[in-house]
Amino acid sequence: MPTAIHTIDVNYLNTPGAIASYIVIGPGGDPVMVETGPGCAVEGLVAGLKELGFRPRDVRDVLVTHIHFDHAGAAGWMAREGARIHVHEFGAAHLVDPTRLVRSAERIYGDRMGVLWGELIPVPEKQVRPVYDGDAIDAGGLRFRAIETPGHARHHHAYGLETEDLGRVAFTGDAAATFVEEAPGFISLPTPPPEFELAAWISSLDRLGEEGLDRIYPTHFGVVEDVPGHLTRVKQTLRDHAEFVRRQIDAGHDHDTIVERYTNWFLDHAAATALPEPKVGFYVKDTMASMNVSGMMRYWAKMAERMTT
Ligand SMILES: [Zn+2]
Repeated sequence: MPTAIHTIDVNYLNTPGAIASYIVIGPGGDPVMVETGPGCAVEGLVAGLKELGFRPRDVRDVLVTHIHFDHAGAAGWMAREGARIHVHEFGAAHLVDPTRLVRSAERIYGDRMGVLWGELIPVPEKQVRPVYDGDAIDAGGLRFRAIETPGHARHHHAYGLETEDLGRVAFTGDAAATFVEEAPGFISLPTPPPEFELAAWISSLDRLGEEGLDRIYPTHFGVVEDVPGHLTRVKQTLRDHAEFVRRQIDAGHDHDTIVERYTNWFLDHAAATALPEPKVGFYVKDTMASMNVSGMMRYWAKMAERMTT
């Protein structure tokens, strides 16, 4: 049986094409899940599995690229169905006890947390498999490989997979930013505080470039065929965003003013690259802009501190 990768659109808050869960079916026919989507989208996840002919309890192994809610929010739910959860060594403890994770997200999302992400169920420790850089993960008769890719978050892996029929592919989480099929020139970069690191992210993109991948699967959203082109665009966009915010800081603007200017500038990019209107909320506005500005302001403050000490 050839290896197959299926994309489940969890239909996050009724936004199609926003958050994916990937189901990889190996030689034995067993499904491996990469990314769970958030707790509030479990219904969409289950529906997607059903369409492929699976029940949640058929999934024995779940790989998550990092512990943010849009990627691993339903990990506890999948664990309850019996799955093992493979997660970055730094993220493992936070899936077992999500208290700190929730508290830090509350700082970004405030009282909209429940609506935006749903319930976060702890993963029993015995079902967590901490993953280290370069680890081989055997699941569903396939061998995945962990590729450490910090920058968006310190605790981030991409998962490489190489098979005869697929060639070399990788599930890139947020490390290769976003891809919108209808607007391939549009890139959205989540740069959340406190872990966003420009230089680390650029190195991660270089590392992904060196992998010689035939295709990548960002969680937001779907398959990217032109890997070098996409990675180059992401790198440029990343530099542009960081530079834009740095110039605003240098001009003495405060956080709210920078958010306003950044949003307008980003909306211009969305318009220039023909991002379809229903996706503007998810990829540009909503909480994205203020989160991004906070992450980048914190990064530049850290850099300035390093220069003076
Ligand atoms: Zn993330």
